[in-house]
Amino acid sequence: MSDEVTEESAQQQDEAADGPSVPQEGESGPHSGEGHGSPDKSAKQTEEEPAPSRAEVSNYEIVEHWFNVAADRLDLPDDIAAVLRSSYREVQVQVPVRLGEGKVHVFSGYRVQHNGARGPYKGGIRFHPEVDLDEVRALAELMTWKTAIVNIPYGGAKGGVNVDPSKLEERELQAVARSFMDKIEKVLGPQRDIPAPDVGTNAQVMAWLMDEYGKLHGHTPACVTGKPIPLEGSLGREAATGRGVVQVFQEAAPEIDLDPGEATFVVQGFGNVGAWAARLMQALGAKMVGVADASGAVAGEDGIDAEELARHVRDGGKVTDFDSGAEQIDPDDLVGLECDVFIPAALGGMIHKANADRMRCRMMVEGANSPTTPKADEILNDKGVLIVPDVLANAGGVVVSYFEWVQNLQHFRWDEDEVNKRLGKIMRRAFREVAERARENGTPMRPAAYELGIERVVEAASTRGYI
Ligand code: NAD
Repeated sequence: MSDEVTEESAQQQDEAADGPSVPQEGESGPHSGEGHGSPDKSAKQTEEEPAPSRAEVSNYEIVEHWFNVAADRLDLPDDIAAVLRSSYREVQVQVPVRLGEGKVHVFSGYRVQHNGARGPYKGGIRFHPEVDLDEVRALAELMTWKTAIVNIPYGGAKGGVNVDPSKLEERELQAVARSFMDKIEKVLGPQRDIPAPDVGTNAQVMAWLMDEYGKLHGHTPACVTGKPIPLEGSLGREAATGRGVVQVFQEAAPEIDLDPGEATFVVQGFGNVGAWAARLMQALGAKMVGVADASGAVAGEDGIDAEELARHVRDGGKVTDFDSGAEQIDPDDLVGLECDVFIPAALGGMIHKANADRMRCRMMVEGANSPTTPKADEILNDKGVLIVPDVLANAGGVVVSYFEWVQNLQHFRWDEDEVNKRLGKIMRRAFREVAERARENGTPMRPAAYELGIERVVEAASTRGYI
């Protein structure tokens, strides 16, 4: 453990071939999910960042595609597939907040509970201007399969508000979080649905959500996870998703005869997941040769220090103003950098049919949710790139959220070493089970992972008598 990067040490230093057709990118039509509500026509923020280079196929279509592939392979009857494809409950609320200029602005908030057969609903809350009901549905469904694949006793949910947190003052952000909780608390609770952080939210936002929930229900730390440590957050939670990415990378490396300590890697997105994954990869001896955030991208064959960059970003800096000697590159060229491992850790749909062929990595470990479109997945598989899919690779966050919930219910704290060890055990077991299934089936890991997850949910739902 002595040379391992932990949250504590960081603080000390410095504070498929057959089956359904692949959705065509650029031709995304109306969504056809059976059982879903009407298309999302909620209010959107008008002032948006320049659009990143993302595919026009939505997260929803990506998740549906993989569900359909697995459902076909499993010979799931249509009626059962229809239940699993649709959400159990979809809540859409208005989130009115008086902003600095004195006017009330109405944001749209969502909480989608996809499937609760295996336990309480679980999933993050995203604050991002592009959040809409279809995206939240897709991410909720992804959580159902993810919690089943890593075999923890949860269902799947997701939430979000279509707000750009970078444009709000802290007071306004707090008002958004509290207003959102006031509107959705009736469908939440430690035995019902437990939110966590996602893009644009963090431990501070979770603290406000917990406090607001507590005003109505009494002190209930187990109502959200990803909380700050002094408010019964779990040691190891902040790093957990990045740590899980690195743990599955270590399991996958021998499959391509790669020594993890000799690897070169590129990270797309240097937020919570990307920064922790990069720091932990570097702790293994691997070298970061390219990195991007929303401000742009840099590349350097001699390596970019992930620890220094993380410190710089924590202090409010951006990847592009980090003085590392690395060269600024066009963000679209990041995917073309030669490396052993590419780690997408930004938003969905960033690896698509127009850029997948340019990728020069040997392995991709998906830190982000739905970063790869089905068409890009096909291209990369044809190129022989080993893909460790999102539903497995980024499950570390929800696994340690589960540990946080368990600790909260017992009002007992585990030390960070114990959290990290237990996380590694679950991630390695899940990797082995998915890899074994992929070998048996002769498929890549993604369809194998979905099959495993869907099978477990079907078993739970039918044993309960729900379907
Ligand atoms: P974050 O908000 O902390 O970081 C997102 C990063 O992506 C930032 O560095 C941002 O600048 C960057 N980014 C945004 N647009 C970009 C672009 N066009 N090009 C390059 N970089 C861009 O979010 P996070 O919590 O690290 O989540 C990242 C991804 O991981 C999301 O897809 C999220 O759903 C997924 N995920 C997060 C967790 C978690 O525990 N935080 C768990 C599972 C999955």
